[in-house]
Amino acid sequence: MSPSRVLVLNSGSSSVKYQLLDMRDSSRLAAGLVERIGEETSRLRHTPLARGGETREWNAPVADHEAALKAVSQELARDGLGLDSPELAAIGHRVVHGGKRFTEPTVVDEAVLAEIERLIPVAPLHNPANLTGIRTAQALRPDLPQVAVFDTAFHTTMPESAARYAIDVRTADEHRIRRYGFHGTSHAYVSRATAKLLGRAPEEVNVIVLHLGNGASASAVRGGRCVDTSMGLTPLEGLVMGTRSGDADPAVIFHLARVGGMSIDEIDTLLNKKSGLVGLCGDNDMREIRRRIDEGDAQAQLAFDIYIHRLKKYIGAYCAVLGTVDAIAFTAGVGENAAPVREAAVAGLEILGLAVDGALNAVRSDEPRLISPEDARVKIAVVPTDEELEIATQTFALVEG
Ligand code: ADP
Repeated sequence: MSPSRVLVLNSGSSSVKYQLLDMRDSSRLAAGLVERIGEETSRLRHTPLARGGETREWNAPVADHEAALKAVSQELARDGLGLDSPELAAIGHRVVHGGKRFTEPTVVDEAVLAEIERLIPVAPLHNPANLTGIRTAQALRPDLPQVAVFDTAFHTTMPESAARYAIDVRTADEHRIRRYGFHGTSHAYVSRATAKLLGRAPEEVNVIVLHLGNGASASAVRGGRCVDTSMGLTPLEGLVMGTRSGDADPAVIFHLARVGGMSIDEIDTLLNKKSGLVGLCGDNDMREIRRRIDEGDAQAQLAFDIYIHRLKKYIGAYCAVLGTVDAIAFTAGVGENAAPVREAAVAGLEILGLAVDGALNAVRSDEPRLISPEDARVKIAVVPTDEELEIATQTFALVEG
């Protein structure tokens, strides 16, 4: 039997998340995470899903990504799923920034690694860790295809009118400043799954996808192709997020530097890590914010209102970008779970054909589902995202040829 397993690796600067899937039936064999790599308090959590096994967890120093991947391999081997198995077909890597060049998943070779490295200036936090993950996996299984699946790829179909900032063209081009967008794997998966939920082909439908996790982004998808998205050069632009400000007048930065006396690094940290919901009310977990609102907390209420106001503006904008909209899909931690966010996001937008059915919105389920009234012109959907399955599917399709 030809190899059918794909290991999906999502390598961050101090963590590695992984899933092992069998692509014969897209089933998950194992999933886990190594955290705090390089610290004394590293932690590994591994769940052997195939055998319904119990989650194993241990704390011990894991020096680097190589040690992390070896530890993962050992855990997998305990379940008979080791990385040396001939059943492993490929390793699929999440790579955050693929620039303009990578429009599709790509089998990694030296030239691909060099290009991912060249993009480090536009993704200084992510691409170095993704590279380390690929190199480590290559060293462990040099015979195996390593496939890079880019967060930016789905957005490379954006027209120049959406992708360019209105700043001096020569300066922008010299520094590769343009809107790249992120969460592309999720937007691709969810827009297709939404079309399926409507019983139509992706080419036939226009969908607005709202990926609302800790990071959050919206995209406008026309006939299966992305035509606009809310994140830009970096994941800072767009919606209000857990810790990121999203859209703000760029002059805020000059003001904080000149008048506030802050360094560029301090402003970077402020806007990326100390803003958004956490900056507005001290919490970035929507469950906690809703709990505080129920207790009458005005600060939490204001944070929620600012979050919703921004979301509404993007929904309106993307209705205008698309002209006709068949569906709006909510996904990721907040989008899949927070009924009050979904309700508030479309409240008052009946003029755009948008409405949520209260009873359907209250249903909790892991399945894709509609929450708009039956006769609604624009369907509103909750569609759980599955980035690992999408990376594995794209990886397997590429190596199977
Ligand atoms: P990321 O992948 O960006 O880290 P997720 O998509 O996992 O984020 O989303 C995490 C967020 O989802 C949490 O910070 C929390 O705000 C929200 N969330 C998760 N579960 C719920 C829930 N039951 N109700 C409301 N919000 C939730």
